[in-house]
Amino acid sequence: METNLVDWFKNTPDGVEADAILRACVHCGFCTATCPTYQLLGDEKDGPRGRIYLMKQVMEGAKPTMTTMTHLDRCLTCRNCETTCPSGVRYGRLVDIGRKLVEERVQRPLAQRVVRTALREGLTRRWLFDPAMRVGKMVRPLLPQVLKNKIPVAHDPGPWPTDSHLAKVLLLNSCTQGAMMPGIDRATARVLDRLGVQAVIEPDSGCCGAIRYHLNDHDGGLADARRNIDAWWPYLEAGVEAIVMNASGCGSLVKEYGHLLRNDPAYAERAARVSASTADLIEWLPQRLAGLQAAAQARYGAALQPSQPALAGRRVAFHPPCTLQHGQGIRGDVERLLTAWGAEVLPVPDSHLCCGSAGTYSVLHPDLSHQLRDRKLDALQSNKPDVILSANMGCLTHLQSGTDAPMMHWIEWLDQAIGARPAANAAAAALPAAARPAAAHAAGA
Ligand code: SF4
Ligand code: SF4
Repeated sequence: METNLVDWFKNTPDGVEADAILRACVHCGFCTATCPTYQLLGDEKDGPRGRIYLMKQVMEGAKPTMTTMTHLDRCLTCRNCETTCPSGVRYGRLVDIGRKLVEERVQRPLAQRVVRTALREGLTRRWLFDPAMRVGKMVRPLLPQVLKNKIPVAHDPGPWPTDSHLAKVLLLNSCTQGAMMPGIDRATARVLDRLGVQAVIEPDSGCCGAIRYHLNDHDGGLADARRNIDAWWPYLEAGVEAIVMNASGCGSLVKEYGHLLRNDPAYAERAARVSASTADLIEWLPQRLAGLQAAAQARYGAALQPSQPALAGRRVAFHPPCTLQHGQGIRGDVERLLTAWGAEVLPVPDSHLCCGSAGTYSVLHPDLSHQLRDRKLDALQSNKPDVILSANMGCLTHLQSGTDAPMMHWIEWLDQAIGARPAANAAAAALPAAARPAAAHAAGA
């Protein structure tokens, strides 16, 4: 589409990028039908094409209003529209740029400013969030439902493995996951430990920056990114295998560090390497499992066999987070891995649609968010699974607030599936009994 951006904006880095994105859009509207907020509200301005038009007007000099801001706020940034778009329009980047422009020109009501500041500052500081979550879990039964919804039920996360290995990967020192669902990192570390890999969390790293960035505090989000790059750099230099993300929302942003810091001479190069070294757990783990398979084949002359998940339930429904399937373009890989390890992965209608969690969206737009959650739960439960799995702590917390059905991260399921088998060492544990060496038989039987 033709553009005519205002002079003060068009030659800035954001202006140049926004102009290229706007020009790619041919205004066909294919994206509108798959937009969750358009499906709920039926207003063109609450769909991607309408929002693109609103942002274009602002970038061409129109004065934004509270109405402009509201339509942009209601966007989940799920990026379903990017998957649908035949012209490759990078809507996610455009809406980040457009929202910031509008935020700078429209005064939000005081109540909104207070809530957004509280989210931005409260969720991203572990020294504040961890003790608050601990207290919240203790008094959870006494809390009103609206607060209960945000606090997962406490359960034993199991131990962190104590063995050290030469092969190491970094995990994120996540701002909220460690306190809300500590079992996810521990399950990840245990599975990696069985593969002979040590998971390391560098305490000087922290929030990936997504919370601040997506609340239009770009400077704050990029400061989080720079802190993480500084903290992770010595490990990359020392040969750590990868930065492995078990929260798809965080992984999606860390993979963008290189792009977001491309104009920062002090960080551009290192940011690009950090992004290139980052992989979602489902991108990295199958390669390691394949390596284990090859090693076992060479050593024992037998292929690994899938296990039977005794504890977690075999019939599973998987919810692929938007940040995994639309943000990172990873589709079907978790389902394939689960199937290989003995799960029956049930079909889920409309699995491309957002569950309504979307970072802080469930707090800022509870009505829309709950409608999307309830639709998603109906779809996930339509084939009566034993357990619902996902790949992002935010989705799990949000979905769990609408049901008592068992729910966990897929790595927790895999941890249980692998843990249910006898384990003397990783290769022997994954081998059929007849092919295991005698020592492994003795130790694991
Ligand atoms: S974003 Fe893509 S699908 Fe949507 S109107 Fe533009 S070109 Fe069409
Ligand atoms: S990101 Fe999601 S909610 Fe926002 S316009 Fe695109 S499809 Fe709609």
